[in-house]
Amino acid sequence: MIYLDNNGTTQVLPEVIEAMMPYFTTDWGNPSSSYKFGSKLKTVIETAREQVADLIGAHPREVIFTSCGTESNNAAIHAALKAHPGKRHLITSAVEHSSVLNYCMALEQEGYRVTYLPVDRDGLLKLADLEHAITDETAVVSLMWANNETGVLFPVKEIAELCRSRGVLYHCDAVQAASKIAIDVPKISIDYLSLTGHKFHAPKGIGALYVRRKTPISPYVYGGHQEHGLRGGTESVPLIVGMGKAAQLARRHLLVYDKKVRPLRDTLEDGILNSVPNTELNGHRTERLANTSNITFHGVESEALLILLDKEGICASSGSACLADSDEPSHVIKAMKPDSTASQQMIRFSLDVGNSQEEIRGTVAAVQRCVRTLHSSY
Ligand code: PLP
Repeated sequence: MIYLDNNGTTQVLPEVIEAMMPYFTTDWGNPSSSYKFGSKLKTVIETAREQVADLIGAHPREVIFTSCGTESNNAAIHAALKAHPGKRHLITSAVEHSSVLNYCMALEQEGYRVTYLPVDRDGLLKLADLEHAITDETAVVSLMWANNETGVLFPVKEIAELCRSRGVLYHCDAVQAASKIAIDVPKISIDYLSLTGHKFHAPKGIGALYVRRKTPISPYVYGGHQEHGLRGGTESVPLIVGMGKAAQLARRHLLVYDKKVRPLRDTLEDGILNSVPNTELNGHRTERLANTSNITFHGVESEALLILLDKEGICASSGSACLADSDEPSHVIKAMKPDSTASQQMIRFSLDVGNSQEEIRGTVAAVQRCVRTLHSSY
């Protein structure tokens, strides 16, 4: 198998499994218990919190564990709206993940007004559009750091400064950015930032929400006193430990991530664009994560190509894994190129440091074969 769907999810690293194991086998208590067998796990959770905080330069007290990136995104928007009950306007973009978009659409049903900022053909946002969209009614701006389908990077620093200067809370979905680029929250005035473990080699089912000190926060999941009363539910100690360990490893690997992944991605991308006719890159050439390549194959349906690639043992995708079972064309590519069929004829390849040049060469050859097969069958 050649795994090129790392924006979908990543393999849990052996070191992460090893770190988690004792909390399944021997230390399986409840951290809220009064006896030591359980309560000693509180320090284990705090160590993981420090490790996650460290990945983004935050203070551990600013990190709340959640169940996933989706929950973090929902919780941040919910908290911002609760903080300003009189403000009924939100701003997001047309290319956000479904965990933001679908929540915004649900809020519209409740009477909120939502502005979905457009992007250009490269997937970039115009800051002037954001500036014009903010009004006295705006409670929160939710704009992602790195797009999951194209890897395109939004100008987060400038967005944060603009929001701060207009007194609007800023939530950033950094699920795809974390572990792929350096994040240092003290330097950027982001109020809320979402993370999920399974995009950087922790298991699925564990996420985190960064909430800047003094930023309003209220629970999204009501329950016990866990997470300082901000997120009810008995803590999943093994998953929290796994996310902490993965964050620690990701921080270490950040130094080499770009150097290792970018040449592989560029070999793949150039190999396909130069040898397969009627192909087109989706996403800005440089303002983009080093691991992501989104390519349109004009005249070839994404699903047909994915099936043939799967037969060749290659795992890629036609966009977000959360929407993979729907027939809908990619909303991201549609927002970028509304006049073309690119949104139904594209493949996302997302690499990781574990990929090899040999795998990439094999993938280019397989893509050439599969596209030839499909063209001859039309
Ligand atoms: N935000 C982005 C940009 C994502 O890519 C994803 C996952 O695909 C999520 C949020 C949701 O994360 P989770 O799968 O942990 O709910």
